[in-house]
Amino acid sequence: MKEAAQMVRSLEQFIGGRFQAPASGQYLVNLAPATGKPLSQVPRGGGEDVNAAVSAAQEAFDGPWRQWSVEQRAALLDRIADSLQQRADDLAALESADTGKPLALAAKIDIPRAVANFRFFATAVRQFGSDCFPMEGALNYTHRSALGPVALISPWNLPLYLLSWKVAPALAMGNTVVAKPSEMTPMTADALASVFEAADAPPGIFNLIHGLGGEAGQALVEHPDIKAVSFTGGTATGSRVAATAAPQFKKLSLELGGKNPTLVFADCDFEATVNGAVRAAFTNQGQICLCGSRLLVEASLYPRFVEAFVAKVKQLKLGDPEHPETQLGALISAEHREKVESYLALARQEGGEILCGGQRPTLPEPWDQGFFLQPTVIAGLSPSCRTATEEIFGPVVSLHPFETEEEALAIANGVPYGLSASLWTGDVTRAHRLSQALECGLVWVNTWLLRDLRVPFGGVKASGVGREGGRYSLEFFSESKNVCIQWNPNPASPKASS
Ligand code: NAP
Repeated sequence: MKEAAQMVRSLEQFIGGRFQAPASGQYLVNLAPATGKPLSQVPRGGGEDVNAAVSAAQEAFDGPWRQWSVEQRAALLDRIADSLQQRADDLAALESADTGKPLALAAKIDIPRAVANFRFFATAVRQFGSDCFPMEGALNYTHRSALGPVALISPWNLPLYLLSWKVAPALAMGNTVVAKPSEMTPMTADALASVFEAADAPPGIFNLIHGLGGEAGQALVEHPDIKAVSFTGGTATGSRVAATAAPQFKKLSLELGGKNPTLVFADCDFEATVNGAVRAAFTNQGQICLCGSRLLVEASLYPRFVEAFVAKVKQLKLGDPEHPETQLGALISAEHREKVESYLALARQEGGEILCGGQRPTLPEPWDQGFFLQPTVIAGLSPSCRTATEEIFGPVVSLHPFETEEEALAIANGVPYGLSASLWTGDVTRAHRLSQALECGLVWVNTWLLRDLRVPFGGVKASGVGREGGRYSLEFFSESKNVCIQWNPNPASPKASS
């Protein structure tokens, strides 16, 4: 990342309710992926900024915020949701410019979901109960208390969507937060800080530190006063975060990478399946952890399916993210596009045949300097080769025929990851059988990315540890304590003595 020039909007850290310059005085340049031009200057935060933010979070936690009732906290989340809703158009434009994703996608998915996250957790915490275990002459109940200052680290692919998914439950349970978004997509996190400022939220309950992961992020995870780390990002980074946090016994939630299978059986609804598989592979340029990047198709259907699938992919409209018909925008950065392209070269070496895409598109100014890549479909790869088992996180899907359900399952489970799977079949018994056998945290049957915010969300194997969503998030962001009260010392038939 280059040192910044003086020509674009400069962002600041948000610490203790105040926007302020980074202690280093240094800024990074944030580029707009669709044009390659500078969009903003981002503070290069480090240990000093992190110390200040954690102190502010601790002070806020020890202050009046601790006395806020559930209803007061829920009402604050509702006000934040209202304010985000009022700014929805601006936020969608910021998110699209910052990520390179189509404006229509940001307006339909990213921003409404960020609003919904605050709204949902406001309701969820109002309705959150606790366990009660009656004994003979005694009663146990579970008391849940806030943890203290918590670290929220989020990636660049769904910036406000994923940040708000952590901020809302953390505050709902009475914690204070220090958030570290990706330095490549800081714009909507900055806007969220303005929303907190305008909402008269208690200073220090929401702090925002911009900077590089290895500097600001690392310092935040290492900080001894941080009680929990909720991290969403790549598996290699997640492993480093875990190694840093574990010796201090911090609570840890890790939402990591995926290499998700889409399983297509010959008895599927053909049209719906082709459309669903295209959506699963290429939404957000394939840069969603849940994208179906391995397409497993029953051999008897394979030729017909491949023809229809490739035809649909070729019709996808790529380019100007602001155009209402655009379906594919730019990748996040030049470096990321190069990484994705290196997998295309690898795929060729591994015997793959590129059925469509594989090239940078020719686009008019200013998009000709953007980080675009055509949606790419590869056939002929072994399901166990590197291209078919490593996370590429771009607009690339590999096709694999299978003969039997057992073979499909072996391919689906034959990767280190285990985040999600999408299964397309008309046989409900098969759907149940396979759903239980697939090694992953989420299975969609005859759909993809249909989300209910109450359900457990997370992965197994290298895709993560822990679950978010609904009560799972509220439990993560709190500590449970059992309270046992004996109300009758001489019950008729004592059950437990120790
Ligand atoms: P990443 O490189 O792992 O970064 C994620 C976040 O961690 C960023 O804010 C990053 O900051 C920060 N970070 C980097 N090194 C750190 C360290 N040593 N300590 C603390 N924080 C550190 O991931 P990404 O490239 O942004 O995102 C793509 C990945 O996220 C993919 O693997 C994708 O599958 C995964 N993802 C998973 C889910 C899920 O729910 N399972 C959802 C979305 C994305 P910088 O950006 O400044 O380096």
